[in-house]
Amino acid sequence: MTALLFTVDAEEFDLPAEYGLAQAPGDDAAISRVGYERLLGLLHERGVVATHFATALFADAAAGPIREALVRGHELALHAWSHRDDCASMTPEAASARLSAAKRHLEANFSVTVRGYRANRFRSPARAVLRDIGLQWTSNLHPTWVPGSYNHFRAPRCIHMDGGLLEVPISVTPVLRLPLSWFWLRNFGWSWFRACVRRASAHSGYLHLYVHPWEFTEHAPLLGLPLKGRLSLRRSGTPFLDLVARVLRYAQEHDHTPQTISAHLRERGYEMKEACECC
Ligand SMILES: [Zn+2]
Repeated sequence: MTALLFTVDAEEFDLPAEYGLAQAPGDDAAISRVGYERLLGLLHERGVVATHFATALFADAAAGPIREALVRGHELALHAWSHRDDCASMTPEAASARLSAAKRHLEANFSVTVRGYRANRFRSPARAVLRDIGLQWTSNLHPTWVPGSYNHFRAPRCIHMDGGLLEVPISVTPVLRLPLSWFWLRNFGWSWFRACVRRASAHSGYLHLYVHPWEFTEHAPLLGLPLKGRLSLRRSGTPFLDLVARVLRYAQEHDHTPQTISAHLRERGYEMKEACECC
């Protein structure tokens, strides 16, 4: 059995602001919530549980759907307080205060224990900060090269210990490190996914994908967005929902069983292990 670790960065839509375009902050969460509800409908239909890395701001705006997902066995993890935060640039004390407040906010509002963390835009503070606020694992590593963003081409593809915390890398293929999550899935399409999927999960024992709720919202054309921004929104809404439906169906029909990340770690006994020895 291979685990399907389907993950959602449950966040406000701030892509225009990221590219310097004017955007009313109040719209961010509302735009994401539309897509989030559509995605949850699909996950519920297919019986797929997911891990949701939520910002405190988005969790407030989508509390009802999140509660329903939790009742159905999904997991709530931490993304940030606001998606506009940059904890990597803060002092350790400031990052700790901000993330700790967000973690407590999620735990109090949804009556859960938050164990995992994925930094927004993968801009994480030092791992000691995360350990100190009581997190147990992270998903901060996309072990590939994304020009202009990060280069983790030689980082491990499997679960491993890093700075006293378990790290659960997002899936890429071995050797060429081809990514197959949101941006690549929507731009390279079904054939790309199908060519990558078996190699991506064969060695690591899981298929770990990530998407964002605003990818399932229909967007009006945004004037002034550079090419990378336009590619990030291409095929949003129904076309992407249909593509993800196909991805889930294919994975489930090919021996991938949906699990939350914490459930997967427990099943593999990783909470008691020091490190993965396979890579
Ligand atoms: Zn994010």
